[in-house]
Parts: sequence; structure tokens; C-alpha cells
Amino acid sequence: MPEFCDVAVPVPLHTVLTYRVPEGANAAVGSRVIVPFRRQRLPGVVTELHDRAPKVTAKTVLEVLEDTPALSEELLRLGKWISDYYLAPVGEVFRSMLPLNAEFRRATVYRITEEGHTALHLAGSGGSSSRSKKNPEDQDTEYRALNHLAMRDEVREGTLRSATGIAPALLAGMVRKKWIEREDVSHVTDATRTRQVAVLCSGGCPPPLEVDGGSWDGRGRPPLHVNVAADLQFRPTNTPESPAEPKLNSNQGLIMDALATAGGKLDVQTLRELDVPRSTLATLVKRGLVELIDEAIELPKSTVNPRGIPAGMEFNSAQRAALDRIRALVDERKFAGILLHGVTGSGKTAVYLAAMKSVLDAGRTAILLVPEIGLTPAVAADVHDVFGNEVAILHSGLSDKERAEHWHRIRRGEARAIVGTRSAVFAPVSNLALIIVDEEQDSSYKQEETPRYHARDVAVMRAKFSDAVVVLGSATPSLESYFNAKKHRYALVEMPDRVEKRPLPEVKVIDMRQEFQETGTEQVISRKLIEEIQLRLQRNEQAMVLLNRRGYSPVVLCRTCGKKLECSNCAIALTHHKSRRRMECHYCGFMARVPKHCASCGSEYVYFLGTGSEKLEELLHGFFPQARIARLDRDTVRSHADFERVLNALNAGELDLLVGTQMIAKGHDIHGVTLVGVVGADMALGLPDFRAAERTFQLLTQVAGRAGRGEIPGKVVLQTYFPEHYAVQYAAQHDFTGFYEKELRFRSWMHYPPYSSLANVMVRSAKLDETLRWSGAIGRWFEKSRHEGVRVLGPAAAPIERLKRDYRYHFILKSPSRQKLNTVLRAMLTQAEKEKIPRTNVIVDVDALWLM
Ligand SMILES: [Zn+2]
Ligand SMILES: [Zn+2]
Repeated sequence: MPEFCDVAVPVPLHTVLTYRVPEGANAAVGSRVIVPFRRQRLPGVVTELHDRAPKVTAKTVLEVLEDTPALSEELLRLGKWISDYYLAPVGEVFRSMLPLNAEFRRATVYRITEEGHTALHLAGSGGSSSRSKKNPEDQDTEYRALNHLAMRDEVREGTLRSATGIAPALLAGMVRKKWIEREDVSHVTDATRTRQVAVLCSGGCPPPLEVDGGSWDGRGRPPLHVNVAADLQFRPTNTPESPAEPKLNSNQGLIMDALATAGGKLDVQTLRELDVPRSTLATLVKRGLVELIDEAIELPKSTVNPRGIPAGMEFNSAQRAALDRIRALVDERKFAGILLHGVTGSGKTAVYLAAMKSVLDAGRTAILLVPEIGLTPAVAADVHDVFGNEVAILHSGLSDKERAEHWHRIRRGEARAIVGTRSAVFAPVSNLALIIVDEEQDSSYKQEETPRYHARDVAVMRAKFSDAVVVLGSATPSLESYFNAKKHRYALVEMPDRVEKRPLPEVKVIDMRQEFQETGTEQVISRKLIEEIQLRLQRNEQAMVLLNRRGYSPVVLCRTCGKKLECSNCAIALTHHKSRRRMECHYCGFMARVPKHCASCGSEYVYFLGTGSEKLEELLHGFFPQARIARLDRDTVRSHADFERVLNALNAGELDLLVGTQMIAKGHDIHGVTLVGVVGADMALGLPDFRAAERTFQLLTQVAGRAGRGEIPGKVVLQTYFPEHYAVQYAAQHDFTGFYEKELRFRSWMHYPPYSSLANVMVRSAKLDETLRWSGAIGRWFEKSRHEGVRVLGPAAAPIERLKRDYRYHFILKSPSRQKLNTVLRAMLTQAEKEKIPRTNVIVDVDALWLM
């Protein structure tokens, strides 16, 4: 075994740290270890084993969690690539690839010292030397804590705080006074790997329920089991065939009793909650009375009614061609990328599932990535039908523990079809043959916190490292992917028709400026849309109305002084939420009362302007009092279950109208919807963001695609204030190519992606002067160092100048050479370190999607 190992620790460091491998330990590259870091114990991943002694004395690894690596060679390589490409600290990358949260439990214990005992003694005898001037209440708390500790070996921080009410600051002070010692005892729990279950031994050895009484120490539950025997129909203890009956002490009895009551089986975690020492269970096992077994954990299944994926997969020719193409490339066992461009309703999902099925039949594995909430329930039902127990579904609604359970199942090879959101790209499958990224343009694939990776691009790299095939599917591919296909980096497969030749919906564009002129008032819902909804209600068909803004009114304005009501943490207007009777900031969650007077001038003329989805729902109730209306946005959908319930109701025909934000636009295949109204989807066109046109085009195309997926042709009423805008025009004509050509020309002129690599560097601080000083220093360095082939814009105040209490200044870097861009960013981070700017205050966002 080599003497040293390099460990990636989840802290904002760009390097790995060298530790000594403990005597007799069996660490492997990719294993998880616990290491001392400053005064903490931290989990990390071994990246290399070697015999090169570091310059400073190396600390020793505290614990090696596994001798088989948690991260395969392929995933380690992927993690290093992410760290390099996105300039993300390598330990933080590995952390987000592994389910460490559930398995690593943070804990701190305290112990009293000699000095502490002395202080307590002095205080008790009244001769307090240090009991004096300062806050007497704090001192009482300190002595209470000392008292508590004096009676015990060591106490967990949580227990100590709840028992004595002591605050962390006081505890820290006591450590400084050396009255107490603190130790980080964070550790790994094995609860999630498999569920360990204790089972009463079969083979005729139920325990004699006999207790050597009196040993109950008064804590916990008293031993009840004496009377239980008869109820549980155990053999009487004095039957001749029962051999010498083992005696049980009260603790052992407690466990046997609990097991018997639960029908002979309980998970070990539950037994640990009984107030008995851990050794008791071990003793029972030793005595052959109880057996411990590992049991697979029953995972929750989706509750959406399966739509019945075509069993024989009766494909049309385009679907057949797409599937054949994917299968042929998979069989070559080489990296290949495919852009699958299929209009909404063209049956892409069936192609995905069929491709995955053939991969599994060949004994290999496949991953299907889906965007956040929008797609999962419907797809979940299908994949359960197709793959049964071989599927693992990973979505954002899972707890850390559930996530870890899936992770172990996948690693054991029990699940070979993985379906999940962003981080499922890291699923620890082996023998990977195929990764599919559905709706590859979706912005939820981009992680907006460290490490800021894009799961679609990571999927492409993972496929490369595994000699696998990656399929990027979309009705509205991102410009980047379409560009790559045009450049023949990906094979382009088109599915231009809907299944069964159903027509794309007819789109009617309503110019809302004209509507205003003709009706004389500002309308939220046009006369045409009302008429069309009325028609659907009469015909018992369903309609969806999109307004991509939640809340009741997005702006509250004083008509006297003109001030907008803003969040106190962000430079953002607060949104009025009527049913919750409060104002909310959609960026940081700040809440305030609904104002009666202007906070600045005291005027009563406070106006609520604009419309959000909550108000739209209210308006629709007014127009159509008989209709059954539901709303789908982040205010009404708190969980996956909420989401599934609304979709099920719509599917079952229990709803007439569904109102919502972009959540309603994504991938639901509801056959009864024949009308889609778009009330507000073009707001983004007014924003200073070069992707605004692309996003608007995609959203309009996606939501229009919800209409007419059944027998009856669909219709779309698209209300807009920008009827001439090319994003609106091309979406109305279902003309992706037209939009793509025009948008590419614009990107090319402006040196934006895909013609240029782009990074956003954000400098932030809660103090404005720090933000200015730091961004100024970085700006001067950029100017002085003049990097050939990299354009630097800024420093400039970010479009949202203040967010979550931080002042924000940013730079935008563009370069035709990704390598040059990367080099400059790296040098910039080194410079920032020299300037003593904390790493967490400089955010580097490579391929940023959001420049606000
Ligand atoms: Zn005012
Ligand atoms: Zn805010």
C-alpha cells in the first residue's frame, strides 16, 4: 500500500490535499475517506495513491469508508473534467456526484476539562473568582452547561444546547477559557446502504418470555413482555421438547418483545430507538436468537396512471428510422452524438424507451435525463411499465436518504435504466451504452450553484469517456446543439410529423395593442380567447392558459411619488400574493405586509399593477363561473404529489381549464386539450438578455405543442405586444429552421454563443465598497494583462444590482477559443487570491445561461 494519498475535500480549494494512509487501511483511488481538515472532520475522495512525501507533515486519514471505489475511473475522470472546464473546486464537484449528505452525519461533542471542574467548584463554593461584572445571565447558563457536562463523559452539541439553552457563541467562549473541549465526531452512517433488519430466529426458537425481573432501571419503557406470550401464541415455555430456555435480561427482553410485536421483523434503526445499549442486539445475535439480514428497501412508485406505452411499439417510419439509427450507433461501441429534432407530439418518448429497452436487453445500461418537475411523473409511469424493477427514478423531490438508497441500488447493478433530473448524469452505472437528454434546451439542466455545470454538456462528456452514445432530444433544440449538428459534430435525426399524422395546431396571433385600441381598456384576456374558451367548454373539451408569472400583481406602485415597493435584500419589485395576503420576493423569499400606504411618502394612492397567474385564475372564474379551473405554478405545487394530482385530474377529465406558468408548457401529453391560450409569454423580449428571443421562441413552441395531441385538432391563441418580433412570428408558423437561421446571424454579429465561448464573472459582497474595490481591482488587472483573443466587458453593475443582500458587479468574457478563455479565467482567480478576495465572492460561470 502506498504511503500517501491525495484527497479532494469539499471546500473552495482548487487543489487536492495530501494525507498519510493509515496503517493497514485499504484505500483505493475513488474511495471515500474521512480526513481532518482544520478543526473539522470532512468527507473526501481519494484521487491518487503515491509515495511522494509532501513538504509539510501530512496528517493521517481518519477513516477509509470502502475499499472498492465509490467513484469509478470513468466518473473520477468526468469529475476532473468538470472541475477543469467550469473552474469549480474539485472536492465540491465530487461531493455533488456522491450521496454524501445522507451518509455523513455532522456531529460535535463537548467534554469538561480540569479547569472547567475547578471553575464549577469555585462557583459552587461561592468563592467565585471569575463570577463577576459581565452578564450574570450568561454566567448562569455557562455553569448550567458545566454542571451538565460534569455528570457525563461527553455530550453532543445538540443535546447540550437543548438541555441548557446555551448559545453557540457562549460555547465558543467556554472553549477559549479552556473550561470545555470540543471535538468534531462527524461520522458515516450505514443506514442508507441497505436496510439492516433484525429477524427473530425461525426453527422453533421463539424466546421464552421470562424476565429476570427488577433489572429495569426506570428509564425508557418498562418491560411488558411477561403477559405477551399468550397473545403471541408462543409455545409454552415448559413444553418438554423445548430445550434449556435462554434467560433474558430486561434490555434483551425489550428487543425480543418489540420484534415479536412487530411480527418477528424490525429494521435495526427502529430497534436503536429503544433505550437499550447497542451491545444488547449483538448479544442476542451471538446467542442465535436474532438474525440480522440486509433487506432491499421498497422504493416509492409513481402514482400517475400509466398511459400504456405501445407494447408492440407500433412506430411510424420516422420513429422507426430514429430508433434504427440510435441502435446502429450503440452497436458500434464508440462515442457518437445524435440530435433528435422532433416536433411536439412526434413520439420521441416512445423512441427513447425502445432504445433503452434494447440496450438493457443487451445487458448494458442507459440513462435518461429529463428536465425538472415538468416531465417526470408521466415518464415515470411509462418507464415503470417498460422496465419494472430495473429502473431507478431520481428527481428533485427525493430526500438525501432516498437518493442514497437509489445510488447504492444502481451501484450494485440492480437498476440499469436510470431516469432522472440533472444530477442523474452522475448515476454510478457500469457498462454504459446510452445517455438520452430529453428537452436538451431546458435551462433546468444548468446548475446555478457551485459546481455550475450543464448536465447536457456533462452527458456528452460522459458518453465520450464511456464510448457510449448520447442522444439530445428536443422539439426546440438549443442553438448550440443545432449548430453542432449543422457542423456534423452530431448526427441530425428529424421527426417532422406528429404521430398518426395529427396536424400541428393552428396559431392565431392577437395584437394586444390593437385590442386596447378597439376596446378602450387594457385587457388581460382578449375577446378572441374568451370566445374560444367558451366554445371548448360547450364542447366538453379542455383548455390551458399560460401566463409565465406567478402571484397576483407583479408591481406595487405609489401614484404620488412613483416609488415601487422593492425587496429589502434585492433590487427587485415585490409581488403581491393575494390569497396569502402578503408581498413576496421571488428571488430571495423575503416577505412583507401588503401596504396600505406608501412607505416613502405616506400617500394612500398605492396601486397594484399587472397580472400574475393567481389573478388570471380569478379573472377566468369571473368569465366562466361554471368551469372547473385549476392552477399549476410554484405557489400551488409544493411537491411532486401536488403536480401529479393536478395532471391526473386533467387526464381524467375532472378539469375544464388549467392555468399556469411555464410549468404547464412541458411535455404533458393530455389528449383532451384542444386549446392553448398564451396570455403572457413574451415579457422576456423586453429584458437585456441575448437569449431572450431563443427562450421566448422555445416557450411559445412548447406550450403550443400541448394543443391537439388527441383526435381533435388543436388551436392556439397567442396574445402579444410584440406581434412583429421574429421569435413570435416563427413560433406561430412552427418554423424552427427559419428562426434558427435568423438567430444565428444575430449571434454571429454579436460574438455570442455558439460563435463564441462565454463566461460571466460575478463579484459580490454584502458591502457595496468591497464589491466596488474588488471588481475594480480585477478590472484593472484585466486591462493591464491584455489577453489576446479574449474580450472583457465590465466591470458593470449586474442588471439585478442587488440580490439576496449582495451587491453585484460583473464581467462578461467572450472568446472564440475556449482554451484561451479558460486560461484567462484561471489567471484571474489566481490574481483574485493575491488581492485577498475570498473565493466565494468571485463567481465564475462558464457558458452562463443567465446574465442578470
Ligand atoms: Zn409614495
Ligand atoms: Zn429579495
